[in-house]
Amino acid sequence: MEKSESVSRHKLKRTLESLASKEGRGTELISIYVPPNRQIHEVTANLREEHGTATNIKSRTTKKNVQDAIERVIQRLKLFKKPPPTGLVMFCGAIPRNGPGSERMEIFVLVPPKPINVYFYRCDNRFHLEPLMDILREKETFGIILIDSNDATLATLRGRRMEIMKEMTSGVPGKHRAGGQSARRFERIRDAAVNEYFKRVGKYSNNIFGQLKDFKGIIIGGPGPTKHSFEEGDYLNYMIKDKIIASIDTSYVGSNGVKEIISKSGEILRGVRYSEEKKLVQKFLYELGHETGKASYGENEVRGYLKEGLVDILLLSEKLNMTHLKIKCTNCEYMEDRLVDPRDLIGLEKQISQNQCPKCLNQNLIIDTTKDLIDELVDEADRTGTETQVISADTDEGVMLKDSFGGIAAILRYGKS
Ligand SMILES: [Zn+2]
Repeated sequence: MEKSESVSRHKLKRTLESLASKEGRGTELISIYVPPNRQIHEVTANLREEHGTATNIKSRTTKKNVQDAIERVIQRLKLFKKPPPTGLVMFCGAIPRNGPGSERMEIFVLVPPKPINVYFYRCDNRFHLEPLMDILREKETFGIILIDSNDATLATLRGRRMEIMKEMTSGVPGKHRAGGQSARRFERIRDAAVNEYFKRVGKYSNNIFGQLKDFKGIIIGGPGPTKHSFEEGDYLNYMIKDKIIASIDTSYVGSNGVKEIISKSGEILRGVRYSEEKKLVQKFLYELGHETGKASYGENEVRGYLKEGLVDILLLSEKLNMTHLKIKCTNCEYMEDRLVDPRDLIGLEKQISQNQCPKCLNQNLIIDTTKDLIDELVDEADRTGTETQVISADTDEGVMLKDSFGGIAAILRYGKS
């Protein structure tokens, strides 16, 4: 994976998860997708129409909430002369906090990591996230080589879109020689034909896959041992060979074989990512176990090394769900940092306002800032050009990172003394 790619994916994924969990009291949550080529004034005009249509809504609260949300979106759109190069997505609506009557108007503005090509406006009791979910899935292109002794198929896979690029037949004679032919001569002819066939498949693979954008890897498949002979031989150039991420058995070549691979692709790619994640955590454990001084863990220590720019790779558990609070006193200059579970935030706000300031003893404590701990550490890492990898808890190593090291670990550039 490219540097920080796991982070931007992770950020979008988390945002979408949090948006997906929000539900309106009625049909009053607004989703709007603006593609890059759409004029802002057109969008605004469209929204004014929707605002007018909303006067027909029977429930007074719902009507008010929908119209308020539309107005908020129109206000926010005014900040843009035109949509960003990848378009613009906004979600807005009254979200219940704590039962009826606790709704608060919230707006979320997202610039998608890749261009969105749809324009739509929806008003529903949930936010419409599907086009963004698709972007999350469609970031990468994979090459597929299917090969057996008779046929070969080259295909590409991008998100859920599959395209067959080339189909070839081997022209290799069957295993049984014709009567009267000498066995050795037959073998020689056959070997030469196989070699020619592999060369052809290699040449087309190098050409086709060498031109792919966002090219992440190659999956080789086929029913028998032919795929291994092809892979091990000298038929693919080293750049393409380097991209092979999996070699799997399929029952078919041709489009049925490609379909088989696609049906397994989620699993294959997850497997690839898991093995990357395992290696990263194992590297950290190696440095720790061999006392090279290049391993660090825990929020405090890692943050310190990050600030000094000493971290080579920052490892964060996906399950690290913590909010960093800065609490301050409005009466004196007292300040305090606290890490809390975000689910406790609502109760905590009240509790803190009732606590005494440890310094001036007044009841003037407030929460000054709240920041998601992962976001905060990633920002810190970005500032110092440090690579960050967000590690799932789907492998033993990932679970160990979460449970034994508090979800935060680092491999340092130099051994600390
Ligand atoms: Zn104070």
